Amino acid sequence: VVAISSCAHPRRRHALLLLVWLVAVATLSGCGGMVPTGGNRVQVLAAENEYGNIALQIGGPYVEVTSLLNSPNVDPHQYEASPSVARTLAMAGVVIENGLGYDSWMDKMLSATSVDAQETINVGTLLGRQTGSNPHIWYDPQGWTTIASAMSRGLSGVDRKHAKEYQHRADRFVRSLVPIFKLIATIRGSAHGAAVTATEPVYGYMAAALGLRMRNMDFQGAIMNENDPSPGSVVRLERDLRTHRVRILFYNRQSASPITEHMRSLASDSGVPVVGVTETMPAHTTFQAWQLGQLRQVQKALSQP
Ligand SMILES: [Zn+2]
Repeated sequence: VVAISSCAHPRRRHALLLLVWLVAVATLSGCGGMVPTGGNRVQVLAAENEYGNIALQIGGPYVEVTSLLNSPNVDPHQYEASPSVARTLAMAGVVIENGLGYDSWMDKMLSATSVDAQETINVGTLLGRQTGSNPHIWYDPQGWTTIASAMSRGLSGVDRKHAKEYQHRADRFVRSLVPIFKLIATIRGSAHGAAVTATEPVYGYMAAALGLRMRNMDFQGAIMNENDPSPGSVVRLERDLRTHRVRILFYNRQSASPITEHMRSLASDSGVPVVGVTETMPAHTTFQAWQLGQLRQVQKALSQP
């Protein structure tokens, strides 16, 4: 127990008690795997790595971030948390989840884990979204500043000592978004409400911010909910692609199936530009670079006659 207390967050007695309990039942071999370095850093657990990346930028050297959905090779709609995640959750000072049913496995774990001084940010609730609305809310640029402020507040809540720095870093993060907002405005100004379509509503909020008119919502909704799209919705999407009624097919690279791959091929064969988008961030990038990269693809696609 002495060895364990040396790497647990000093302010979180209940977390320590839970850890001791976990050691007893799970025969953990020390704490090396759970708190790799810097035991005094705030442990942040993000369900999705785009939120984890923002938290890392705002928390800087005072945080250690674990993102559960952290690879574009995993389909988030089919993710199931492993038991080891519950142990990481018990150590977390700040927990960030998307909400809106996107990561309800996180809610289940949270209700089964009671840890004092834990700040939980549910982004859907934070942004005032209703249950049943499009859950891919990290693509809504109107929410980014609110998310950054909430993370700064959450980190300050468990680590008051560095509150000023969290605020400073959150302000810096918001300033770094300016080039993205400018590109959004540029694309919006030149797109003139162009019609577009998608395999899933993953990029829906950004498409709306760009003033694009999204078609085939019935097909997209079926794919998101892992249902078979109706024959009528399949025919309508195929016709949109074949007849160039849409300027872009947004293709969810992270949730591929035979029917969505079919639509991607059809778009390519028909000369409709395909823009690949993901649900979580690729490795070795930042939230800003990821968003900018996808927006530049949109700009390039819309520049095609
Ligand atoms: Zn999705």
